[in-house]
Amino acid sequence: MKTLPLGVEPLVAPRHTFDENKSLIGLTRDEVAEKLKEIGVPEKQCKMRAQQIWHWIYFRGAKSFDEMSNISKDMRGKLNENFDVGRPEIVENLISKDGTRKWLMKFPDGQEVETVFIPEEDRGTLCISSQVGCTLTCKFCHTGTQRLVRNLTSAEIIMQLLVARDHLGEWPSPSEGRLVSTIVLMGMGEPLYNFDNVNKAMHIVMDDNGINLSRRRITLSTSGVVPEIYRCGDEMGVNLAVSLHAVNDETRTKIMPINNKYPLHELMTALQNYSGIKNSRKITLEYILLKNVNDSDQDALDLVKLIKDYKLHAKVNLIPFNPWPGSEYERPSNARIKKFSSIIFDRGISAPIRTPRGEDILAACGQLKSESEKARKKKPQAS
Ligand code: SAH
Ligand code: SF4
Repeated sequence: MKTLPLGVEPLVAPRHTFDENKSLIGLTRDEVAEKLKEIGVPEKQCKMRAQQIWHWIYFRGAKSFDEMSNISKDMRGKLNENFDVGRPEIVENLISKDGTRKWLMKFPDGQEVETVFIPEEDRGTLCISSQVGCTLTCKFCHTGTQRLVRNLTSAEIIMQLLVARDHLGEWPSPSEGRLVSTIVLMGMGEPLYNFDNVNKAMHIVMDDNGINLSRRRITLSTSGVVPEIYRCGDEMGVNLAVSLHAVNDETRTKIMPINNKYPLHELMTALQNYSGIKNSRKITLEYILLKNVNDSDQDALDLVKLIKDYKLHAKVNLIPFNPWPGSEYERPSNARIKKFSSIIFDRGISAPIRTPRGEDILAACGQLKSESEKARKKKPQAS
């Protein structure tokens, strides 16, 4: 019998099917109606049927048309022949000692992404991936070292939430006390390099006939793709987190090549505009702490100055570096991290230190995918 490593939950659930060409997941309601029309559903019924199907998929979590009991048997047969509402294959399902969960899912073309669920006392956060890999090659990030990169489709983005809620038993959508109460687009990939699919997926997530998650409960993290930050404010209006990580162009360009294209002044101007649009909400500035690179007292003071100079409505989120094999950086000492945080706090800006979660299952920031792929390959084959 196969012995499972600590924290791995055996896969008892049947593997769901997911046919990307037939899936109705990730389409707008109008697109679903259009698909129904294509298979000969009378035009005046299409809208109503699309609404029913939508409710089954996103409110009740249906994984097959057979569950859709208010749709006639004949119609269900027709839907089964032509369409699909199944899930991708779950290759790995891990639970950390601290309760963090991670799913590695495989899409029909063989590409895989990871999704992480972080339970907290009064809420739960789902960290969603937007791309397989990432083209941006930030020096401190493991995802950026992956060779293979492609955008996820809107279906694949939404699937991550559906799979998490399947496993957490969170159907039908509860109106309050949800396990998955917030979504962060902070998994693998740069969400603003896949703007259209992310935008479409988030509008489906926000739809009040389905999952109904408000835009205030969604945070998109970007490395600073300036033109799309403007679009993000206009078209999605979700909370924005920005991977700042350095307070001057020289250091930022060294660790984040995107800074060559969109230097700090352009980025800060875009952020100023964003907080102007959503001025009741603060922008989160993510700041990874790398020993002897960006962790000095002067860096902390410059960070405060930068926020004040641009009159930014912002809070800082300090992320101690999570090492990975071959990475050239180190995490600063706890004393250094605390000092850095207190310099900022003392000047009136919130700067909590993010506690890494799920480190034992390689679910922490910047550790996604490549590492688990390696670990999985190392595992002995089941006999
Ligand atoms: N591409 C987007 C979103 C995904 S990365 C972005 O860069 O914002 C999510 C967060 O994890 C980012 O703030 C990223 O800078 C951070 N991160 C990447 N590698 C890390 C590492 N090794 N340790 C800690 N945080 C890391
Ligand atoms: Fe891509 Fe974000 Fe990693 Fe940079 S930090 S390589 S943008 S995923």
